[in-house]
Amino acid sequence: MTATTYDVINPSTEQVVSTVPLADLRQTDEAVERAARAFPAWRDLAPADRARLLRRFADAVDAAGEELAQLEVVNSGHTLGNARWEAGNVRDVLEYYAAAPERLFGRQIPVAGGVDLTFREPLGVVGVIVPWNFPMPIAGWGFAPALAAGNTVVLKPAELTPLTAIRIGELALEAGLPEGVLTVLPGKGSVVGERFVTHPLVRKVCFTGSTEVGKRIMAGCAAQVKRVTLELGGKNANVVFADADLERAAATAPYAVFDNAGQDCCARSRILVERTAFDRFLELLEPAVLGVTVGDPGHPDTEMGPLISAAQRERVSAYVPPDAPVAFRGSSPAGAGFWFPPTVLTPADGSSPAWTEEVFGPVVSVLPFEDEADAVRLANDTEYGLAGSIWTRDVGRAMRVARALECGNLSVNSHSSVRYSTPFGGFKQSGFGRELGPDALESFTEVKNVFLATNS
Ligand code: NAP
Ligand code: MG
Repeated sequence: MTATTYDVINPSTEQVVSTVPLADLRQTDEAVERAARAFPAWRDLAPADRARLLRRFADAVDAAGEELAQLEVVNSGHTLGNARWEAGNVRDVLEYYAAAPERLFGRQIPVAGGVDLTFREPLGVVGVIVPWNFPMPIAGWGFAPALAAGNTVVLKPAELTPLTAIRIGELALEAGLPEGVLTVLPGKGSVVGERFVTHPLVRKVCFTGSTEVGKRIMAGCAAQVKRVTLELGGKNANVVFADADLERAAATAPYAVFDNAGQDCCARSRILVERTAFDRFLELLEPAVLGVTVGDPGHPDTEMGPLISAAQRERVSAYVPPDAPVAFRGSSPAGAGFWFPPTVLTPADGSSPAWTEEVFGPVVSVLPFEDEADAVRLANDTEYGLAGSIWTRDVGRAMRVARALECGNLSVNSHSSVRYSTPFGGFKQSGFGRELGPDALESFTEVKNVFLATNS
């Protein structure tokens, strides 16, 4: 028998927070059909009116920001500071794409005998599948551009973390979005998520999660040549050259991997340090790691909370066996909660699973490199290609290395991957397509070409 409800657990207390009904196949089909019925009116709404509704939706999210943040602290163990940023990000992404309906330009192309025009047409119903690591932002990165382009959306939050998505779905209705334009469907990936892939009325699937499930979704979508955007894992390198500001590089490195307890596809879980600076860098890294405040995520000063679940803690623990080359570790609370301390490994070479696989927990490995070519080779030696950081004072080298790294999002002398106005996505097995910025909007449309004869 399949479960019809799910007990949401607070990962810092292991207590049940609330019980959420899970959608079954029939309810999923009904939601998809409702979204398909809502599509023509949403598509044909005057651009300024669609824009206005999205701005009202953004205002509703803004007004509920603190409530959403508190829900995320309790459901996901995110620190209060992060959770507030995440609710704000949903608002910002909605505001950014609210400008799009009135700017969804086509082209006029010179041709003989008439006028040639292109239109950016919405696809229809878009299915968004969200993971548990960033429930609010990743939902918004899917639904905001999709809605702005004139699509209707069915959205499946991760089973573990449905609470903020459910509330955001209610806020959409309160803001005046018509019924069926955005439907949040808590449920299992194997039921609701799979149905987005197989249902012929869902014209695109926008998926964020594991590479393994992403591959299955891409294969499933092929049966209907269904559009797909995939944001999968990462094994991101933080490359530190000896000429860098080592103090800053070391002070910021812990936050580039331990933020969200390392449950971040952009986590810089491989630190590559030029050999001549290796010892000095580790000396500087140790106090920075020990200084990370781990504890109650609801406390405003906390910098790292628990892992999402007991299963995730098991998975992460496997990367730190008793004989692991631990250089130093931070602290974590005892007692209830899925805690794991920030952990730094100094492996002998790049063959250990903690170096090659996505850990999705607060574990980072540090290896030395010899020169620029060696740094690029080591950094690219992975099937992933999402994000990375480069620390150097040599501007030419920063740009050379940035161009040489096979990944979608790089930052120099900083660790930022995400801005709502710039594209985000992966090379290689980290993904397919781009979210955010101008690119996402285009990926929720088809180009239509119309030739109009003017010869009589
Ligand atoms: P996952 O299984 O890929 O889950 C991501 C989303 O896909 C969830 O909503 C999940 O539903 C859904 N899903 C699962 N199987 C599906 C299917 N057959 N068809 C359609 N949708 C499906 O990821 P996970 O198991 O939570 O995490 C495992 C590992 O994946 C992590 O340890 C991490 O390495 C990686 N990961 C990466 C990201 C990222 O941001 N790139 C995010 C999450 C995880 P349920 O609610 O039923 O799970
Ligand atoms: Mg899974």
